[in-house]
Amino acid sequence: MKRPPIKWELVAKDGEARCGLLHTRRGVIETPVFMPVGTLGTVKGTRFEALESAELDARIILGNTYHLWLRPGAETIAACGGLHRFIGWERALLTDSGGFQVFSLGALRKVCEEGTEFRSHVDGSLRFLSPEVSMQVQAALASDIVMAFDECAPGEASHEVARESMLLTARWAERSRKSFNVLQNEGSTQQEQKAGESESSQQTAGGRGNEQRSSSVLPPAPASCFLSFKSALRAPHSALELSGEQALFGIIQGATHLDLRRESLARTVEIGFEGYALGGLSVGEEKRVMYQVVAETAPLMPVNSPRYLMGVGTPEDLIECVARGLDMFDCVLPTRNGRTGQAFTSRGKLNVKNAQWTRDMRPLDENCACMVCRRHTRAYLRHLYLTGEMLASILLTHHNLFFFLDTMRRVRQAIRSGDFTRFRREFLEGVNSGVA
Ligand SMILES: [Zn+2]
Repeated sequence: MKRPPIKWELVAKDGEARCGLLHTRRGVIETPVFMPVGTLGTVKGTRFEALESAELDARIILGNTYHLWLRPGAETIAACGGLHRFIGWERALLTDSGGFQVFSLGALRKVCEEGTEFRSHVDGSLRFLSPEVSMQVQAALASDIVMAFDECAPGEASHEVARESMLLTARWAERSRKSFNVLQNEGSTQQEQKAGESESSQQTAGGRGNEQRSSSVLPPAPASCFLSFKSALRAPHSALELSGEQALFGIIQGATHLDLRRESLARTVEIGFEGYALGGLSVGEEKRVMYQVVAETAPLMPVNSPRYLMGVGTPEDLIECVARGLDMFDCVLPTRNGRTGQAFTSRGKLNVKNAQWTRDMRPLDENCACMVCRRHTRAYLRHLYLTGEMLASILLTHHNLFFFLDTMRRVRQAIRSGDFTRFRREFLEGVNSGVA
């Protein structure tokens, strides 16, 4: 590998809270960082110019492997030069592995040693996702940070179920790492030859089964996947020009069982990743339990690598988990709630539909400096929302993204100045005081 794809350095620490710099090939990201979610290649309701503006200044956004794999397809995105070029975003991108989306399909999926079989929510077709397929799709997307393919146990999973799931995640992590390394270390020409060989070996390997396999043996992926991937490699602007420049994060599972979390962490660190994530939280467990898992696990995570809490959460969750030593966060809340008429403010959530705002000439949040709060009133936003105007979603989403991103700016400032404890107390008092 030419150079480390990412490098994280600690800038300041206040208690367990860490402030750092994540160097990527597409710019420097200050941590703790909130990453807006761009499920289908768009952060819903927001233009990229707004995300890049000094006001929001989002340095990294997410793409969802599952959704992009189904539509428009990894082959199409690779042919368009990778996800950055396809969507017109030059800053950093992180893609998830697709594991969580498949988990949320519930009864529509079937998990076996090799991977997960599921029915597409788009057209009902039968699809198969495995560590190898996920790595190939994420290589084709050419994201800057790739997530290992994991299995997510429900929040209330018993010890036995959670352990089995955690061990499967560990075996899949090893397969993800191996597959990722092959993809990264070989040049495009070698990749093409390799794909040709893989294709012919796949044709003789037969179908996939449910039998147990040693983690040291790479199981076959469906031939159709390799065919798609092979043609993606031949694409005129192959995303794999970037081979060797992606980073891979491992995911720690174990539901709410602290011993399993510790075991998962040890197994994941042993394999070795460029960053480490806590997965399987905020999936039905109580909030205090989630905080406990974070508090017990985060301090044991490698100190020189970024620590990412996947899919969490509210502004309070971000502050509480920064306080427990985590660096990276993503959540659909600011965008999703923006579309359903809910604003996050320094005094808690504001429901824009409420009749009490009919003639209220105040901004959404009197402490907010965003362009929506500088120009528009609660009365106007309520009117837009109730009349179904698309501008309501756009403005609420902008305010919410600003609130999340600006909160993280203030968090970083507080950590750097050794003032995080006071900031945390005042922030939590504020959001719990209620909008009036
Ligand atoms: Zn605002």
